[in-house]
Amino acid sequence: MKSRNGRGARGLFEASTQFLKSQQRLIKLLGTRGALGAKDTETAVLKLEKLVDEKRPAQFMSEAAKVNEKLTAGLKKQDTTGTKTDNAELALLLRMSKVIQETDDAKAVFTGVLALLKELVAFENGTLYLANRATGNLELAHQEGERVDLIRGVRFDHGFGLSSWVAKERRPILLNDLRREVQPGLPVVKSFLSVPLQVGSELIGVLNLSHSCAHAFGERDKELLILASSLAAATIEHLLHYQSIKELSVTDDLTALHNRRYFQERLTQQSQLAERYLHPYSLVFLDIDHFKQFNDAHGHAEGDKILTELGTVLKKWARTSDVVARYGGEEFVVLLPHTDSEGAMQAAERLRRAIEAHAFPRRRRITVSMGVASYPNDGKAETDLVQKADQALYLAKKAGRNCTQRIHELRLEPARQAAVN
Ligand code: GH3
Ligand code: MG
Ligand code: MG
Repeated sequence: MKSRNGRGARGLFEASTQFLKSQQRLIKLLGTRGALGAKDTETAVLKLEKLVDEKRPAQFMSEAAKVNEKLTAGLKKQDTTGTKTDNAELALLLRMSKVIQETDDAKAVFTGVLALLKELVAFENGTLYLANRATGNLELAHQEGERVDLIRGVRFDHGFGLSSWVAKERRPILLNDLRREVQPGLPVVKSFLSVPLQVGSELIGVLNLSHSCAHAFGERDKELLILASSLAAATIEHLLHYQSIKELSVTDDLTALHNRRYFQERLTQQSQLAERYLHPYSLVFLDIDHFKQFNDAHGHAEGDKILTELGTVLKKWARTSDVVARYGGEEFVVLLPHTDSEGAMQAAERLRRAIEAHAFPRRRRITVSMGVASYPNDGKAETDLVQKADQALYLAKKAGRNCTQRIHELRLEPARQAAVN
């Protein structure tokens, strides 16, 4: 399981619940400040509560978005009459909770969250660390301006530096008149504000803000940041869970490769890019030879080990831009962007030979047959290409297996040609 913290669907539910609670806190705060009427406050809080009770995290985001719309509208109305500055801050907090509803791209969420914090508390450098649940250490997740951490060499429970102290103590730090010597290559830091990011009682990270002027942050900034950071933490936690669930849904359990669904998505994307920029791309279909015999001889469990190992071989062989997926059963597919028919034939042949030479568990050997189809030579529509690659694979089987074929040029690979003659 490749999820960041291995909590799966249950984790998403918990993260949604926490996110909801932080939204409820925000709504109540809006109520206290008079930005929302008592009745509207109650309705919004109850609506969110109902979603938790019904255990429907999937619907949660769209419902939360609707509640947000209402709150924003309430705030706008209030702005014309109420205390402008307070409401501007509240509006920012609201916008923060909307960031996650607009995108599930991690970078975009981090950038969005920090941009909003900057409107709340003027800082020069902002660094977001997230706690790795396996090791407990803080890892750099995002940075605006320069990376800032103080007393880096000191080790605390969660790693090094002052951020780790904040993580360990779960207490914010505000330092306003730092007299650190100016060090070449390091940003000038006179003000430093660091807050733990917590979801419930769980620490998920630390946020550091700095400024080159002394007294850039006040106590009020600290309070605001604490309030905003609980929402930011809930937002980030939700994002990470959502991503791990999404990743699981496109991953094949046995081989840890992508599954067919993911391949189809990427193929559609690639096909659109190819049409627009006229880049070639290729598909390689790959099927294990006589795998039924293998299973019959050694058992299904041993067959599974071969599939898992083949997954590892394929991953090692592939470039980062390639998409490798288990298409189903003992059939795999590789999408090679920017690769024409010739290039794909050569790459496939190298792979075929590597598999032939590979010692699988218990020194077992297998061979594979491959079918190659390329854009634009073999067709333009993605369905045509899949069909052509499949037909080519069939040809490879017919030609005696352990070889690579393509359709548009009915030519056997030389070694096979010699064997057939
Ligand atoms: P060919 O060379 O023509 O491809 O022969 P084959 O025996 O590989 O082809 P066939 O389609 O007749 O059988 C595929 C076999 O793959 C049947 C099935 O037992 C095996 N297989 C499919 N999925 C799995 C799997 O997840 N685990 C194991 N162990 N075997 C699988
Ligand atoms: Mg098959
Ligand atoms: Mg087979």
